[in-house]
Amino acid sequence: MSELEQKQLQLLRLSHELGDPARDLAILGEGNTSIRLSAERFLVKASGSSLGTLRSEDTVECLSEPLLELMNRADATDGDVDEALVKCRVNPSAKRPSVEALFHAYFLSLPGVHVVGHTHPVAINSILCSHRAAEFAENRIFPDEIVCCGPASVLVPYTDPGLWLGQAIKKKTDAYIQENQALPKVVLLESHGVITFGGTPEAVKAAMFMAVKAARIFTGAAALGGPVFLSKNTIDRISGRRDEHYRQAALTNAPHA
Ligand SMILES: [Zn+2]
Repeated sequence: MSELEQKQLQLLRLSHELGDPARDLAILGEGNTSIRLSAERFLVKASGSSLGTLRSEDTVECLSEPLLELMNRADATDGDVDEALVKCRVNPSAKRPSVEALFHAYFLSLPGVHVVGHTHPVAINSILCSHRAAEFAENRIFPDEIVCCGPASVLVPYTDPGLWLGQAIKKKTDAYIQENQALPKVVLLESHGVITFGGTPEAVKAAMFMAVKAARIFTGAAALGGPVFLSKNTIDRISGRRDEHYRQAALTNAPHA
């Protein structure tokens, strides 16, 4: 099996798990996944295909450069976006990537990021479509949430899907990295969904599934008088603790720090 086929298989397996109807993360054409092939190329789910039943012909090999260039342009038109989505395909007869390929190209350009997952989970969107989205993003309610989802999540205010959303995601994520000198693990999109990313498909799943669990607990606790948030000291201690680093590495298949 070639390296491309191996990566494709990893992408299909991840997509099937994220699109499993029992998980309630995405239906119909919702959500997408991508995997880095090299500094210049990545593989992404094609527009309109379904995560749960994704086949190899529903994946598109893309060049990162035309998409990253667009992410830095303030004056791009809808025509420019359409052109870049057509032009970025390595095989011109392949299906088209969705416009969300723009943020996939951005995340895959960050150090150590090889895999990206994006879904619209009911449990998370119940909060992201409410007035309590910021409270959920900024706080942590149990230790494993800190381990798998990081000390806080990035929250992107509602933005029209497309290039503007891609640029808003980049701006908020860059600001988080600047402030924390570390990558986030979870990016929440108001009234839309969630993005997780990491070095392996396991890291994407760990952050995604734990964020969904945290959302369910947050909503349950909100019904019982309101969630009790962990203190900043507790969050700092757990996110900095060596045995937690070990657990993080074990959960995400990453080499130990
Ligand atoms: Zn989406």
